[in-house]
Amino acid sequence: MKYLSTRGHAARPEFCDILLGGLAPDGGLYLPESYPQISRAELDAWRSLSYVDLAFAILSKFITDIPAADLKAICDRTYTAEVYRFARPGDDAAEITPVHWLEAGKLGLLELSNGPTLAFKDMAMQLLGNLFEYVLERRGETINILGATSGDTGSAAEYAMRGKHAVRVFMLSPHGKMSAFQRAQMYSLQDENIHNIAVTGMFDDAQDIVKAVSNDAAFKAKYKIGAVNSINWARVAAQIVYYFKGYFAATRSNDEQVAFCVPSGNFGNICAGHIARQMGLPVTRLILATNENDVLDEFFRTGVYRPRKAAETHVTSSPSMDISKASNFERFVFDLVGRDPKRVAELWKAVDAGGAFDLSTSADFARIGEFAFVSGCSSHAGRVATIRKVFEQYGTMIDTHTADGVKVAWDCAGSVPEGVPVLVLETALPAKFAETIREALGREPERPAELEGIEKLPQRVELMAPDVAAVKRFIAERV
Ligand SMILES: *Cc1c(COP(=O)(O)O)cnc(C)c1O
Repeated sequence: MKYLSTRGHAARPEFCDILLGGLAPDGGLYLPESYPQISRAELDAWRSLSYVDLAFAILSKFITDIPAADLKAICDRTYTAEVYRFARPGDDAAEITPVHWLEAGKLGLLELSNGPTLAFKDMAMQLLGNLFEYVLERRGETINILGATSGDTGSAAEYAMRGKHAVRVFMLSPHGKMSAFQRAQMYSLQDENIHNIAVTGMFDDAQDIVKAVSNDAAFKAKYKIGAVNSINWARVAAQIVYYFKGYFAATRSNDEQVAFCVPSGNFGNICAGHIARQMGLPVTRLILATNENDVLDEFFRTGVYRPRKAAETHVTSSPSMDISKASNFERFVFDLVGRDPKRVAELWKAVDAGGAFDLSTSADFARIGEFAFVSGCSSHAGRVATIRKVFEQYGTMIDTHTADGVKVAWDCAGSVPEGVPVLVLETALPAKFAETIREALGREPERPAELEGIEKLPQRVELMAPDVAAVKRFIAERV
């Protein structure tokens, strides 16, 4: 399988060539030259596979430059019930992503948050950790991952990379801005290759430092600085697997259809659903849910993509969706405009200059129905009411992001054909967002027994002023 850039760069790299990098040289995102088409016979054969075997079958289509036996071993190491161990009582952890039905056969949660950091980022990041280790070892190289986090991504990266040979992680977080649970999750890691840096400032200050360090080409090359951000193709590829798994769990035969509702921010998760559908998975609707930061909902309703400025971004109680510029969205637009890289480059010229684009009157947007998307948005009041209603009606506690999904799934029910099950992707567990659970339910969230008292463990974190030179010095002293 060869990969192309959404903006037309001439190179055609393979999977391992793009695994450790970020954007294509022309600023575009990588996508497969064409999406593998899954035949009915193949779909029938896949229906009974375990998660690991399904992951191997799907990833083999996209990763053709790792020997099959090695890729299988990587999948075997990644998708185990020991890693994804926090399924609700009664749900089968061995399924890796079990479905928890709220209404049998009608409305279910696809549990994606049973991994070590209780959010769906673990689904892809754990695979990334094992792929990085494999490729770096084979090449005799090392990498120093530098990132900034406001919560979920940083902890998922650290739990995926801890103890890995040839990988070090330097993760910046805003001092005092994360929940006590999130801080404990990250800072209690004692692995020598994991470095937490708490910056006295906001998330944007931490993000600016990462950008400044990455823009210093000499420093970046000398210290082999890399990233694991959400545009990484391997993360999207890993996420395709659970759309297939969820489909098989929710239907009895491959003649049936399913709808997915996806709490969205950077468009990474739902992009994988779009690709699964392009491969031939019978998906009747992809329902995109946003919170108050509704830039994507606006696009699907109007055809206008207008990324917001940082100051226009709302700070909400579903913080992992507080995104004003959806970094993976370019992948979908590439398909929407008939895979025309010139068109994409033109559209993003406006976006990268801080502007917007309007497809409302274009022939492309007239075809949007072919892609099965519908969308809606939620609010703090909507989340709280939904958490309460789901708990009272079904006895199931859900987190704030998943609540945005359930709320929008209810709002969009009219666009799903009668008899088609809707799966809401559960993107985090409620234990991570105790404050809103208390507000909605007047009680503490459920927490896996293993994580009781995590806040009392010793923490390993370096407190620093938002100073680029100091961060560079810190890295240079430790590699
Ligand atoms: C990252 C994240 C999202 C958004 O996913 P995207 O792939 O960025 O659209 C939603 N919910 C939670 C809990 C997350 O961590």
